[in-house]
Amino acid sequence: MKCSRCKKDAIYFQRQSGQYYCGEHFNSYFVKKFMRIIREDQLIKKNEKVAVAVSGGKDSLTLAYLLKKLQARYPFQMEAIIVDEGISGYRAHTLDAAKSQLEKLEIEYHIESFKDNFGKTLDSFVENNKENACSTCGILRRYILNKKARELSCTKLATGHNLDDEDQSVIMNLMRGDVIRFSRGQNYYKKISDKFVERIKPLRYFLEKEIVIFALNNKLTFDSSECPYAEYAMRGEVGKFLDRMEELRPTTKYSLLSGYDKVLPALNQFFIPDSIGVCEVCGEPTMDGTCMRCKILEKE
Ligand SMILES: [Zn+2]
Ligand SMILES: [Zn+2]
Repeated sequence: MKCSRCKKDAIYFQRQSGQYYCGEHFNSYFVKKFMRIIREDQLIKKNEKVAVAVSGGKDSLTLAYLLKKLQARYPFQMEAIIVDEGISGYRAHTLDAAKSQLEKLEIEYHIESFKDNFGKTLDSFVENNKENACSTCGILRRYILNKKARELSCTKLATGHNLDDEDQSVIMNLMRGDVIRFSRGQNYYKKISDKFVERIKPLRYFLEKEIVIFALNNKLTFDSSECPYAEYAMRGEVGKFLDRMEELRPTTKYSLLSGYDKVLPALNQFFIPDSIGVCEVCGEPTMDGTCMRCKILEKE
């Protein structure tokens, strides 16, 4: 098939819009959409310092690549944070991909490991309960990212979550009956404590498969191996369900997120307090007396 905008061969058919794209037009569509989201949602202000969380996968490296492009038009500072959870047979190559792509982009980065921060790797944390790997990892990783971003005096923490990730989280939080998590949304961190660096997710309106195409199209060095703990997570199953629904009814993924975004302010107001206390052990913000991170470390 030919591109809907020029005579070149198409590399991608976008079902929801009925458009065919050649490599060049796909790139310009993608970059334009990214720049529009940054502008309309006012995600990054002039001269702000942004921390970008980089894992070495396609999402975070696409994000770093696009933020670098944005920097060419708009003055702001950026540094990357790479978290090394300590997952044997997996982390080493994603780490290499992250470092090599960030060096190519000339983005300064900091590597923070679970081992240095908490005394042990994720592998040893979850040795006897692999089912908890994703939640343990998430809690500890978010703690490190927030703390490091704050230490670097960053006022935004950008993550590479895509539309599929966001939809999966919406469904999973609801399925678990976790109304607090379900009601948080992007502004939660800003609202609740000034110890939280405000989080932004500039790729949350991009389908995962479009990010893969963009990363390949722009020859980004990314690692596509899957985390060995993914098989224990509910996320994969929810992802497959959403893929099926999207197949049956294109735009399902978009409507789910935009519907959620519409009810979010009301949920936020109803379920989320205006401020929270700090952890009695580590002093980081938490809704309980002791934060999740300290509860995990305490068990050890
Ligand atoms: Zn074209
Ligand atoms: Zn704590």
